[in-house]
Amino acid sequence: MTSFPATARRVRDESIGPRQRRMHLRNCLYHFAPYGFRATWHHLATTHRIVGGIEADPSSLVRALDELEMARALVLPRAAAFAVRRRLRKREGRRVPASAHPWDSWGCHAIAYCPDPQQHPVEPLPVVVGRVLDACAAGADPAGRCLVCGNEDRQPGEACRNCGVLAGRCGNPV
Ligand SMILES: [Zn+2]
Repeated sequence: MTSFPATARRVRDESIGPRQRRMHLRNCLYHFAPYGFRATWHHLATTHRIVGGIEADPSSLVRALDELEMARALVLPRAAAFAVRRRLRKREGRRVPASAHPWDSWGCHAIAYCPDPQQHPVEPLPVVVGRVLDACAAGADPAGRCLVCGNEDRQPGEACRNCGVLAGRCGNPV
């Protein structure tokens, strides 16, 4: 599979047909999808009005990619730092502990997993992703209040009824 940057370049490549470019945008979500594949696509498609007749407004694809890339830029340094720590521990012959932060171990996927693809936060992805990263860095417990909207009325193991996020759970990127 090609990398995120290579796939993103194809989304911006105006020499490629809009439908192909839309497919490449969807392929970007196999590399990075904060809400999981389907909910992240739904968010991008509705926010940037990626319509069926994409030929009418192919720039919507670029706007969506811009948003996705901004959120990814927040995650990359933390994922890279985790990879370094893990390599060091392996070299020292120590067991690699289970990650306290779920995104570390599953390649940036589903940081704020939304099981229902149509129910997800309405704020921009970088805002939501940044909030989850900060909350986890501060030691917040994903089983307590919702890391995204602060809702305290939550059932363990269920998505937040307010924003749709089931934080702290390993989501399936497909
Ligand atoms: Zn919430």
